[in-house]
Amino acid sequence: TETPPPRRARAEIDLGALRANVRTLRARVAPHVRIMAVVKADAYGHGAVRCARAALDAGADWLGTATPHEALALRAAGITDVPVMCWLWTPGDPWDRGIEAGLDMAVSGMWALEEVVEAARATGRTARVQLKADTGLGRNGCQPADWPELVGAALKAEADGLVKVTGLWSHFACADEPHHPSIAAQLDVFRSMLDHAEKAGIEPEVRHIANSPATLTLPESHFDLVRPGIAMYGVSPSPELGTSAEWGLRPVMSLKASVALVKQVPAGHGVSYGHHYVTDAETTLGLVPLGYADGVPRHASGRGPVLVDGVVRTVAGRVAMDQFVVDLGGDVPEPGCEAVLFGPGDRGEPTAEDWAVAADTIAYEIVTRIGARVPRVYL
Ligand code: PLP
Repeated sequence: TETPPPRRARAEIDLGALRANVRTLRARVAPHVRIMAVVKADAYGHGAVRCARAALDAGADWLGTATPHEALALRAAGITDVPVMCWLWTPGDPWDRGIEAGLDMAVSGMWALEEVVEAARATGRTARVQLKADTGLGRNGCQPADWPELVGAALKAEADGLVKVTGLWSHFACADEPHHPSIAAQLDVFRSMLDHAEKAGIEPEVRHIANSPATLTLPESHFDLVRPGIAMYGVSPSPELGTSAEWGLRPVMSLKASVALVKQVPAGHGVSYGHHYVTDAETTLGLVPLGYADGVPRHASGRGPVLVDGVVRTVAGRVAMDQFVVDLGGDVPEPGCEAVLFGPGDRGEPTAEDWAVAADTIAYEIVTRIGARVPRVYL
């Protein structure tokens, strides 16, 4: 028999909201543009397989992950009939398994092409390869100066039947900062790298560069495919781009806990490690059984917002590994009542975007870091 989910806490995952978000994104791109649902990092903490299936149901065409192991796990879960791309390869990774699973494998440099070609020879099958250009992000990807060599080697491997270059692609550095000059500069570099590869004889199925912010704000960056991650989970890519609600996106994850203890304390009582919070009057404290081991940022100590009994309270003192405290003032709710750390925001509860502000980080980090100890409950 299945163990019932603990009462302590849960992350509710609203797959209906995820499906609605995919449809909203679909409506923002031209009909020919494919959508790659980015489900890396366990779908940003939401559960990769469940979210992948929901996104496909709602009209996504591709799936994208960072590591090959994440992509192989989707295949192992039975998602075998859609293209899956993964982009973060490390020397010695299992290219042979990627080939056998029919993955689209990103290649950012000669070492990777050499490893994939060797695996194609060993398996006797053609590898699907997507060449990644560094158009200015300064992270993964092939520099423009090295592109002709990589393209030439890929064409030779194509001629030998070892490789098929299915895609040419890149990634933005500052798409979440509207009008940042690097956006136009990256698009120019991307177009010229595409031009070089296509004139040399590469015929990609897809060319792509757009993440969520570019999907939302830069139609000229959509090419053949867009790769939204955070927007699909109903979270705005950055405060500069407004809230998710302003984009018609519905937050998918809600983080809830049951208040584990309610107790009276006198004025002058220190709260949690370091006594960074001291009660200024007799009051009621509520204990929320979630901590930094669950992904509640310690950096939000004294700042994180929590809805308890209809009122938004603030984390009192430090977030500990497994628990934190809120000062409930004169309110004395029943132990076991619900504490909502974040959710869609339409019932007075904070959002993951609010927690990002409180923890001086981005909302991506808030949802992605919710720990394995918190069961995901699918709605
Ligand atoms: N494409 C690549 C290569 C990525 O690494 C990511 C995530 O960072 C995405 C797309 C999705 O980005 P976002 O969540 O901003 O849509």
